[in-house]
Amino acid sequence: MKKRKWHLGLEPGDLLQAKKLATRIVSAAQKEFGVERAALYLLNPNYGDLEMEACLGVAAAVRRKRLVPGQGLAGWVASRGISARADLQKSTLGLGSGGSEMAAPMSEGENLIGVLVVGTRKKNFFSEGQEADLERMAHQASRWLSLAWRVAGTSEESRRSAALAEVGAAIGAEETPEAILNRVAREASRLSGAKLASIFLLDPQKKELSLEVCLGGSAAYRKQAPIEIAETALGYVVRRGRPISVRDVRSSPHDPHTDRVQEEGLVSVLAVPLVEKKEGIGVLCVATAETRRFPDAEIRLLEGLAGLAAAALGRSRMSGRLDRTEEELRNRERLSSLGMLAAEVAHEVRNPLAVIRMLWHTAIRGLPTSEAQGRDLHLIESKLAQMNGILDRVLNLARSADPEIGAVDGADLMEEVSLLTRTKLSAARIQVTKKVPARGEAMIRGDRPQLEQAVLNLVLNAVEAMPKGGELKLGVQSREENILLTVQDSGRGMPKEIAERLYEPFLSRRPGGTGLGMALVRRTVEAHGGTLKVDSQPGKGTRVEIRLPAWSGTRD
Ligand code: ADP
Ligand code: MG
Repeated sequence: MKKRKWHLGLEPGDLLQAKKLATRIVSAAQKEFGVERAALYLLNPNYGDLEMEACLGVAAAVRRKRLVPGQGLAGWVASRGISARADLQKSTLGLGSGGSEMAAPMSEGENLIGVLVVGTRKKNFFSEGQEADLERMAHQASRWLSLAWRVAGTSEESRRSAALAEVGAAIGAEETPEAILNRVAREASRLSGAKLASIFLLDPQKKELSLEVCLGGSAAYRKQAPIEIAETALGYVVRRGRPISVRDVRSSPHDPHTDRVQEEGLVSVLAVPLVEKKEGIGVLCVATAETRRFPDAEIRLLEGLAGLAAAALGRSRMSGRLDRTEEELRNRERLSSLGMLAAEVAHEVRNPLAVIRMLWHTAIRGLPTSEAQGRDLHLIESKLAQMNGILDRVLNLARSADPEIGAVDGADLMEEVSLLTRTKLSAARIQVTKKVPARGEAMIRGDRPQLEQAVLNLVLNAVEAMPKGGELKLGVQSREENILLTVQDSGRGMPKEIAERLYEPFLSRRPGGTGLGMALVRRTVEAHGGTLKVDSQPGKGTRVEIRLPAWSGTRD
C-alpha cells in the first residue's frame, strides 16, 4: 500500500500557543483527508472524559458535548487506545446517518491524552491506509502538543514561581485570617486571569463547605448555601486533597458549585484544596469567562497559593489563641483591681455616710412636719439605710478577699506564673531565667491565688517595661523565716516621681493602664504580713522583691 505524504504545516512559533497548535493540527487533518469535519479531543484527567479542544466544520452543540470513553467512535478509540474507522449510524461529529468517520488515539508515553477525529458525509470513505496515516498524524500531533505544553509549562513556571514567592511574602504580611484569604483570592484571580475567585472553608464538623471569600461573584453566588461535602465536586477536592478542573461547566455533570458557576455566565473552573497538616480545610476556586484548559503548572501554582493560605490561616488561628490568653491575663488583672477598687470606694463612702445618717437623725428629731413631708423624710431615711446595706455587702465581699492562709509552694507558684505568661513572653521576645529551689523547699504562709495574682501583676509590668524584648529573672529564695519572691526586668525602669508614688491607685504611665496593679500587689503583700521592695534604675531595669513569711506548719 502506498503511503500518502502529509505534514502538519507547523512552525516552531506554534509551540508557544498550545490552543492555536490544536487548531493547526485539526486543519492539517481536514486538508490531508479532504473531509468537511475534523476535531481534536483532549482527555480530562479529572473526569476521564473527552473535551473538544479544537474543531472545524462541527456544529456548536456537538462542540460542547463531552464524550465518555466508549461513547461514539472517538470514545471507543479512547477506551481501546487504538485507531478505528467506521460507517456510522450516529457519528461523534454529528454527521447524522450514513457518514464515515475515522479516529486515532493521541498519547504521551503510556498515557492517552486525546483523540484526533475526521469525518465526512460520504459513505465508505476511509481506507485502511488512511487510517494508518491518521494514526501517524495523531502520533506526531501528540508529540507537538506535549512539547507545546511543556514549553508553556516551563516559561509559565518560572514566571509563576517568581510570582508565588512575591505573593507568599505579601500573604505573610497580612494579619487577620480575613485579610489573608482575601489576598489569596485576589492573587489567584490575578494569576489565572479569572473572573471569579472564591474560597470555601470546611466547618468543624467536616460536613459542609461555606463560602468565606468571594471576588467577582454576583450577590446570588455570594449568598449561596453551604455545600455538602458528600458527592460534590468541591467535597471531593477537600476530602481527597486533589484539584479538579472543569473545562466547560455547560457540558459537565450537575453539581452545586459547577451549576452556580454556570449561572454566573462563566465557563471553566479550577478548584484546589487548602491543606493544613495533611488535612483538607477548604477549597480555593477560580472560574474564567472563556474556555480554558488549566495547565499543570497553573494548577500547581494555585495549589501553592492555597498552601500558603492554609499555613497562614493556621498561624493566625494560633496567634488568635495567643491573643485570647493575653486577653484573659488582662481581664484577671482588671477584675482583681476592680474588686479592690470597689472595696476602697465602699470604705471611703461608708464613713461619711455614717456621719450623714447620724446628723440626719438629730436634725429631724422633733421637727414639725406635714404628713407629706413626714413621708418624704421617712423615705430618705430608708434610702440611707439601703445605701449602708449595699456598702456592707461590698465590704463583706472584699473581706472574703482576705487571704485564705495555707502552705504555698514558692517554686510551684513561679512555675504557674511563667506558664500563664509563656506565650506572651515569647511573643514579646523576652528571655526568662528562673532561679527556684526544689519543690517543697520554699513554702510560703499565704493565699495561693492572691499571691499568684500579685506576682502576675509584677510580671505584666515587667513585660510592659520591655517593649523591645529583654531579660526577665524570676527568683524564689528561702531566707531564715521568710521566702523572697523576686521579679527583675531589664526594661526602661521608672523615674523617681513614679517610684515614689508607685502604690497610689490610678497612677499609671501607660495607655490602657489602670494604675491599680501595684496598689493591689501592696495590699496583698501587707495582708500577708509581708513587705515589698522596689529598686528601679531608669534605662536599666527594675527589681521587685516580695518578702513573705515562711510556712511554719500552722494556720495561725
Ligand atoms: P499599670 O500597670 O496599670 O500602669 P501599675 O500600678 O501596675 O499600673 O503600675 C503603675 C506604673 O508604674 C506603670 O504605669 C509604670 O509606669 C510603672 N511601673 C510599674 N512596674 C514597672 C516596671 N517593672 N518597670 C518600669 N515601670 C514600671
Ligand atoms: Mg500593671
